[in-house]
Formats: sequence, C-alpha cells, structure tokens
Amino acid sequence: MSISFKKKQKSRGNESVAVYTFYCAQLSGEQTKHKLNEDTSKQRAHMTMERFNCDGWMHITLDDENLETAVIRMTHYQCHHPYLDISILPEIAQEIERLKDLSAAKVCI
Ligand SMILES: [Zn+2]
Repeated sequence: MSISFKKKQKSRGNESVAVYTFYCAQLSGEQTKHKLNEDTSKQRAHMTMERFNCDGWMHITLDDENLETAVIRMTHYQCHHPYLDISILPEIAQEIERLKDLSAAKVCI
C-alpha cells in the first residue's frame, strides 16, 4: 500500500519516530502551481478545485519500534464543500487518446 503524505519529519529525540503530515485537498495555498505557456494561443482553460482557508492538516506520529500505536493530531476549522474529483473519466481519456492525431474537423464524438 502506498500513502501519499506532504512531508515526513524524523524526531530529533528518537531515531525510530517520524511525523507524517497531510493537508486537506482543498486547503488554499497547497494547490499545484500551473505554469502557463508564454504563447497565449497555446494557453488552455482547465478546471480548478475550489480552495478554502480551512487550516486543514493532520499529523500522524509513528514509531517504527512500536507500530501498534499511532498519535494522530488533526485540525479543520472550516466546514466547506466536500472534495469533488475533477479528473477525466478513464473512458473519456481513452477517447481523447484515440482521437489525438485527427484534425478538429474530423473529430466527431
Ligand atoms: Zn479543508
């Protein structure tokens, strides 16, 4: 199993202890920075997720020598809209892949 955390920080006092930090997926300031193409004719519109100043984060402290115990600290100060998956559906991605080499005039969905 793979877990995606924002950062991992080893304890200063105990080599086997580490703190894993996660942030709310909609936390303002944590979004991926998209660099726009300098050629304005090549810039494309894209969907973005609504962001909030919710201060949503979670720290999970684990000790490699005692994996039966975890310390979890979490904050989330704003009740906001739930996460909405804005990724392209696999069927649509397949269709785009199939049509990618056709001219716009020949694409008929
Ligand atoms: Zn949040």
